[in-house]
Amino acid sequence: MQTILEKLNIKSVNFGTSTGLNAWSSGEELLASFSPVDNQLIAEVTKTTFQDYQQVVEKANDAFKTWRNIPAPRRGEIVRQMGMAFREYKSELGKLVSYEMGKSLQEGLGEVQEIIDICDFAVGLSRQLYGLTMHSERPAHRMYEQYHPLGIVGIISAFNFPVAVWSWNAMLAWVCGDVCIWKPSEKTPLTAIACQHIITSVLKENDIPEGVSNIITGDYQVGEWLTSDTRVPLISATGSTRMGKIVGATVAARMGKSLLELGGNNAIIITENADLNIAIPAVVFGAVGTAGQRCTSTRRLIIHESIYESVKERLIKAYQQLRIGNPLDENNHVGPLIDTKAVEAYTKAVEAVYQEGGKMLVDAEVLSGEGYESGCYVKPCIAEVKPDFRIVKHETFAPILYLMSYSTIEEAIDIQNDVPQGLSSSIFTLNMREAEMFLSVNGSDCGIASVNIGTSGAEIGGAFGGEKETGGGRESGSDAWKAYMRRQTNTINYGKELPLAQGIKFNL
Ligand code: NAD
Repeated sequence: MQTILEKLNIKSVNFGTSTGLNAWSSGEELLASFSPVDNQLIAEVTKTTFQDYQQVVEKANDAFKTWRNIPAPRRGEIVRQMGMAFREYKSELGKLVSYEMGKSLQEGLGEVQEIIDICDFAVGLSRQLYGLTMHSERPAHRMYEQYHPLGIVGIISAFNFPVAVWSWNAMLAWVCGDVCIWKPSEKTPLTAIACQHIITSVLKENDIPEGVSNIITGDYQVGEWLTSDTRVPLISATGSTRMGKIVGATVAARMGKSLLELGGNNAIIITENADLNIAIPAVVFGAVGTAGQRCTSTRRLIIHESIYESVKERLIKAYQQLRIGNPLDENNHVGPLIDTKAVEAYTKAVEAVYQEGGKMLVDAEVLSGEGYESGCYVKPCIAEVKPDFRIVKHETFAPILYLMSYSTIEEAIDIQNDVPQGLSSSIFTLNMREAEMFLSVNGSDCGIASVNIGTSGAEIGGAFGGEKETGGGRESGSDAWKAYMRRQTNTINYGKELPLAQGIKFNL
């Protein structure tokens, strides 16, 4: 498991000792990274001190002065090289993601592929940072808009996508001319350090100041230094709604910009016109993939009453086939939760289901015994509930699937929308009216709404994010890049008169 760290010549982490320092920190306090797979201490990372943080910001600010003057397509060329470097390390980094976070090897590799994909996207984007040209109402005037970089972008990321979400932000920010300070989750610092090393080597080879890419390690307090710092014009924060409310308020209080990517409570509607041969696997992958720890995990299933029993039976059967165990073993479908705290949240949610009158169709269980020694493995479960249960409106980051039935499509859409979160949603139907209604103004209120695919597994080409308590931010594809730049409207008078807008007369 140390291969990528060795290959990258990372001396900044200690393997089981407590004395080393990392390149970004002079502190002595250590952050331990335990794998949920087998509870092994993978390494310890030095926490960033406040003093280090000040140096990082200064270094980033200096680097910005150089970086913003490099033409965008040239910045794109550097990002292209970063994409090539991630191709080289895909296998090792994917493995480390899987081991440190606990997701399956396939999903770990998928995360690195997302980095590669967004690099490719960003390279093209570096020649397409377009502004509009407008017709001025004044003669001999020209009006246009242009986009300039913001400066330092602070990236706060969650444990469940330890590297992909960072890259969605960083690659776009870099082609836009910004520099980045990344605070990864304290639960997954090693994958972040591995990425930082890959980036640093590309910057060095190109003689670019290393302050273009910075990393600070630690818990929420280190995050707070970033969010309250007026030198950081944009904070992009991914994580829980609880965190987002604090971060959003702190950044707004200093008139900074925030891009928030928070919790989801994603539903699939299965109508009587669905092709169940694609709906069932989509539900199972969405509900149990990453052990239910994706922001887009399928948490609620809203099924037409006429097919409710048959969907239920097929799901119960499918859940019986699930193999739970070490995620690096490709025969397993479900790996561990991130830590024992997450297991507690799972157990509490199951208790809440019973308390509110729900019924378990596939029982919940915390697994023990050989292979499950970390105490982080749980059985994916299915509960039969009512849409108004309090627990159903809450995002529990674990593989718990709630089943509900409906009779009209309007009712199904109401149930789907009646939660505080608004990230991802889908409908399975072969009926055009139902599909179009779901996508219409009267349909899903989520940032992502799909037909005949599950709720999880976004492509980088679309703008990613959600409404309501999901935070309203958009990252990755489409025109999400605009969040990383400041727009400037320019008016140029090339005439000999000074006509005023709106025909206002001012005679001297
Ligand atoms: P979390 O909120 O506990 O932590 C996320 C990050 O925020 C960590 O780096 C943490 O140190 C930092 N943080 C926490 N409090 C902070 C504060 N007051 N100031 C500054 N930084 C602070 O979330 P988590 O448990 O790591 O991740 C799971 C959550 O993330 C889920 O709710 C999931 O839905 C959400 N998520 C959302 C998206 C999305 O794109 N919408 C993507 C991935 C994860």
